[in-house]
Parts: sequence; C-alpha cells; structure tokens
Amino acid sequence: MRLVIDNVSKTYTNNVEALKNVSLDIGNGMFGLLGPNGAGKSTLMRTIAGLQDADRGSISIGDINVSTDKQALREILGYLPQEFGLYPKVTAIELFDHLTVMKGIIDKSEREKSAKSLLTQTNLWKYRNRKLGTFSGGMKQRFGIAQALIGDPKLIIVDEPTAGLDPTERNRFHNLLSEIGENVIVILSTHIVEDVSDLCSHMAIIKDGQVKLIGEPLGLIKGIKKQIWTGLIEKKDYKSIKKEHQLISSKLYMGKVQVRLLNDSKPIEGFKQSNAEIEDLYFSTINDLDKGDED
Ligand code: ADP
Repeated sequence: MRLVIDNVSKTYTNNVEALKNVSLDIGNGMFGLLGPNGAGKSTLMRTIAGLQDADRGSISIGDINVSTDKQALREILGYLPQEFGLYPKVTAIELFDHLTVMKGIIDKSEREKSAKSLLTQTNLWKYRNRKLGTFSGGMKQRFGIAQALIGDPKLIIVDEPTAGLDPTERNRFHNLLSEIGENVIVILSTHIVEDVSDLCSHMAIIKDGQVKLIGEPLGLIKGIKKQIWTGLIEKKDYKSIKKEHQLISSKLYMGKVQVRLLNDSKPIEGFKQSNAEIEDLYFSTINDLDKGDED
C-alpha cells in the first residue's frame, strides 16, 4: 500500500500558508518527516489523518481517498497526535478498553486480548490499573503508541512523539517504534534529528510548508555537495565565524565552541574534515547553505 500526497495546500483563516503544494509518495516502512517548529508537520499529519481538509490537492492510501472516505480511513489508521489528552482519573485499562470500542472492536474477549497484547508490548500491562494521572511522560507516550496500534492499522502516524521525553524514555520509545512491522506505513513527524537518523529508511525535510528534500537518508547525505569541517573556536570568535562561514551547528565543549562548517576546502587552519551526518543535511537544508555548483 502507498500513501500518495498530491499537491496539497492549506491556508488557515489567519492567512498562514501552512502547506504549499506538498507532494509525497510514501511506501511501507518508517518515514521521517523532519522540520523545525511551525514548518507545517502537524497540519500535514492532521490532514492525512482526515481531521482537517486541504484547500487543494488530494491524499490517498491505496484506494482510499482521505477526504471522502473517512470511515475506511479510520479502519486502517492509527494516530498518535502531538497533544494526546489522557483523562487523569481513569485507569489505563479503562481508557484503553474505551478506545478499543471506539475503534469498532465490540467483542469483549477480542478487546481483552487486544489490551493484554498491546499493553504488554508497551510494557504497561503491570500498570493497567493505575490512574493515567500518575503516569510519567514516557508511560503516557507508550500508552499513546499502544492505542495507535489497536486494530492492526496499515497506516500509523506519530506526531512529535519524543518531545519532552528524557533520553532513556526516548530510547525505549525508539525500540518500540522499530518493532512495528515493515508491512505498514509509519510516518514519524519530528523536529529532532536523532528520531529520524535512528529509525527511518526514508525521509523528507519540510520548512515553511514546503518539501525541501526527500529521499533515503544515506543517499541524501552522499548528495551534500560541500564538505563538512569541524573545529574548536574561542567563544569570542563565534560571531565573526558565524558571519564569515557557512555554520551548520555549534555546541559548547570544554569552555570552547565546537563548530561544524560547510565549505569546499579547509575553512580555518586546524579544522578537520568530518563525515556528513543527517544533522548536517538538516541544518544545511533548512538554512539553505549547500548551494554547490550544479554538475
Ligand atoms: P509544526 O507541526 O511543523 O510545528 P504546524 O502545522 O503546527 O507546524 O503549523 C504550521 C503553521 O500554521 C504555523 O505557522 C502555525 O502557527 C500555523 N497554524 C497551525 N495550526 C493553526 C490553526 N489552527 N490556525 C491558524 N494557524 C495555524
């Protein structure tokens, strides 16, 4: 099954153009949609999930048209929205059972089977009788993914799943996502580069409502035209280096600043060439840096 997004545009009533002619063709496996805050990711996720309609363009999954065939979409979709509200006074098993009914699974023993299997898979079965208000951020996210897996969905959308998780929780969440079969489409929307580099075999970078880059991470990295250079600089030199060079990223390191620069040749004495990573691809794309000569 393929998810085909064809020339989708969306302008909100406040005149914000959240999506501009977005086209993507996505097959089975894990697809990363990477972009800064405000890029239009959630708008696209909500549109794919049939929760809001595009102004122009179309979205289909197999032979299901997302805007006209909402019931068929609901049957194959698992969705973990960015804001996942949980009723704090209800226990995990109670809400899970309710959501299973909402998904159309009425038979009681089937519901019990689904709850046991998915809450065990997400390591929550032992907490099933606890109220959701007592759950940690990581547990809530795991509950979110468990409910998104109800009814064996063919398309799973997770919107900013690891924002707010600590590194251990994020790692656990990544392992959980990577266990979802290869025979479904999983779209992971995120502004965190590691989410994509750890998990996704295909990716797109979106900014200002437009798709800037699409492909397989390894191939895209090879396509970076310039070279990546790293070095340590004094804090006082940071501003001038940022001005004079194509700065991809920087971080403090032992009282100095470690910078990554994009350049055709060694930009500063003492700098070392480094292998390109998805982070370089991301920052050079959203900052429009990698403008090499077209060959
Ligand atoms: P992301 O998920 O990448 O952070 P969003 O899709 O949430 O991006 O937002 C894209 C743009 O659309 C932003 O400028 C945001 O402020 C705007 N936006 C999002 N939702 C609405 C809305 N319901 N009404 C008006 N503007 C919105």
